[in-house]
Amino acid sequence: MSIAGPAEAPGRGVELTVVVPAYNESGNVAILAARLVPVLERCAASFEIIFVDDGSADDTLETLRAAHRKDPRIRALSLSRNFGKEIAIAAGLDHAQGAASVVMDADLQHPPELIETLVARWREGYKNIFAQSAEKGLYSPLRRILTQRFYKLLHSVGDTGVPEGAGDFRLLDAQAVAALRTMREHARFSKGLYAWIGFKTIGVPYEAKPRLHGATKFTYRKLTHLALDGLISFSTIPLRVWGYIGMATSMLALSLASFFLFRTLIFGVDVPGYASLIVSITFFAGIQLLSLGIIGEYVGRIFAEVKRRPLYLIQERVGFGALAEEKSSACVSAG
Ligand code: UDP
Ligand code: MG
Repeated sequence: MSIAGPAEAPGRGVELTVVVPAYNESGNVAILAARLVPVLERCAASFEIIFVDDGSADDTLETLRAAHRKDPRIRALSLSRNFGKEIAIAAGLDHAQGAASVVMDADLQHPPELIETLVARWREGYKNIFAQSAEKGLYSPLRRILTQRFYKLLHSVGDTGVPEGAGDFRLLDAQAVAALRTMREHARFSKGLYAWIGFKTIGVPYEAKPRLHGATKFTYRKLTHLALDGLISFSTIPLRVWGYIGMATSMLALSLASFFLFRTLIFGVDVPGYASLIVSITFFAGIQLLSLGIIGEYVGRIFAEVKRRPLYLIQERVGFGALAEEKSSACVSAG
């Protein structure tokens, strides 16, 4: 059993693959497919659309089955449960056969027509092309501010810079897809991974649209989790900063000690400061717990990774054929 991803190299089969993670998107997927097909027919010699049903509870999968019956170029993978968008994207890219792959959301916030521009850039030789959105009041002001803060923070403490406004809507050359396939980490922060792999990168501006049907699947809890994954996967600063804080506090404690020593030698013992003692004890106990908590966040993720569980499990494939069936069962155990 190999630890790497699926054995088959990308780039065989079709020219362009579109990967769409979909979680309870039955109202959107058929409309998206209908808008994608003419665009793809215009800009690619051959294509496939892979919808990854991320354990939807509605009839997303049935809709996709029907779409596949009408047009065999539309395929679907159904994960055995909700694994989250980042892993759904990984599952789709593992099955992508295109010489290039586009990743986009199912809710039509990412205009399919932009793919023509992405493909044009790809033909110019770029391999990692991201659509860059100028966000105009699509999300709540709170979410917008928190997102901005997060990217600023990630930029200042992270090892890999994520370009502003770059999301999951992008085109990746088969070479970049192959690179992503080698990364089997569970705490996935795709935007960081896209930046990490490098290759000839360029941004294409676009205007994100409001979601067509349904509500956002990202609650503040999910977003916090994703932000933590991003920070912790791409920065060790939170872990290392405690060393500096510890050093600074011991210096402070040392100078305080010498100050008190001299004062006692010169002025003698005065009334002990109970209040300041309690305050400093609780303060430093707090700092210690906080730093332990941060170490816990890292250790927890290390624990999750060393178990080497597959990234995802597939319960059904629609439109991948017998050969793919065999290949993918291998990929589940290797995944
Ligand atoms: N998504 C997914 N699994 C999840 C949550 C979301 O595959 O657990 C998909 C969702 O169906 C959509 C994309 O990820 O295609 C973006 O989700 P959403 O539009 O809810 O996010 P937002 O636009 O609010 O960031
Ligand atoms: Mg959306």
